[in-house]
Amino acid sequence: MAKDFICPYCKGKLNIDNDILLSVRNHEAKRGLISLSPEIGNYKTKTHSSFKLSEGERNDFFCPICHANLAALEFNENLVKVLMTDENQQVYEILFSGIEGERCTYKLHDQDIESFGEDSQNYMNHFGEFPKY
Ligand SMILES: [Zn+2]
Repeated sequence: MAKDFICPYCKGKLNIDNDILLSVRNHEAKRGLISLSPEIGNYKTKTHSSFKLSEGERNDFFCPICHANLAALEFNENLVKVLMTDENQQVYEILFSGIEGERCTYKLHDQDIESFGEDSQNYMNHFGEFPKY
């Protein structure tokens, strides 16, 4: 069984072949679709040629199935969260930056965090302590 990317809200599968498909709203409030690589640390994205994301601007990401906002507000409003299951059906939280051009991804499982990308230090302090209730 291959990796799957899953909406945390509706549990819908977000990947088709070698793309993760999300709905996105840019800073001009225009909406479009974006394709992300399922390979963590690969920041190549694809959008329709008429839909542009501007470097340094924050975009909002939504599940294309249930339209839930995927912002990871428990960590930082700039981060976007989806779930990933690996070949052993282990579930991870995957967080990436919603800011165009900011390269950081975090893979969380229980208390473990793996970080990826040249900008990954930008949010590490948000993971230092997990929330206590
Ligand atoms: Zn959903």
